[in-house]
Amino acid sequence: MGFKKTEAFVIRSFDINEADKIIVFYSKSFGKLRGIARGSRKLKNRFGSSLELFTRVQVNLFEKETYTFPNIGQADIIESFSELRGDLRKLASAASLVELVDKGVGENEESPPLYDLMTQALRAMVVYPEEEMDKVLITFEIKFLTLSGYSPVLDRCAQCRNPLNTPRVLFSLSKGGGLCKGCTGEGNPVFPTSLQALQILKQLLKMDLEKCPRLRISEDAQREIKMLLRRWLDFYLEVPLKAPEFLDSIRRLAQG
Ligand SMILES: [Zn+2]
Repeated sequence: MGFKKTEAFVIRSFDINEADKIIVFYSKSFGKLRGIARGSRKLKNRFGSSLELFTRVQVNLFEKETYTFPNIGQADIIESFSELRGDLRKLASAASLVELVDKGVGENEESPPLYDLMTQALRAMVVYPEEEMDKVLITFEIKFLTLSGYSPVLDRCAQCRNPLNTPRVLFSLSKGGGLCKGCTGEGNPVFPTSLQALQILKQLLKMDLEKCPRLRISEDAQREIKMLLRRWLDFYLEVPLKAPEFLDSIRRLAQG
């Protein structure tokens, strides 16, 4: 029988019968993990609120050859992040973030830097007002892509490495950057974007995530960056993310 102890975020859960749930964790020591929370759907259960979405817990998992998934023995709350579940805009932004980790990371691929980045991003979502959620999310997304080994080329042509010096450039998803005039038209899937959007992304990439809301970004540039990252992440993940659509509908509601 194996035993695992780690700290982890609850990133998803689903019911498997009237008593039990599967919990998907993103853990510090083992990356993505699943476990069965036996009895967690009963009204009175030993897990309390420790297995709610976004909660950071210290968790013990017990593996047995006869189990498909390990049993969750104990889960103690380290940080509840309950503020993210009580505000619709924050909920949608944090859901978008954990969905990206859920879909973008394989089982048992550990990455302490990604775990730390996630911790910083969720904390920033608690601390900053609703209006700053997009900035936290886009900063998380560009840093996530980089940590995933999909480094963007933001200050020069992604193909020939010459400087980009036109206000509009074509962005190549497969090369992960803007292309100069000479390098376009070689069959790369591309779409137009502004050089400014790439420069802002470069700045965000260098900044500590906690500080990113301090950077002033115009509404137009933010919209453009969100679009660019959406296409890029869809390309990278090969399965479209669902949470951003939910987030869009929340934004529309907020705008009245
Ligand atoms: Zn070029």
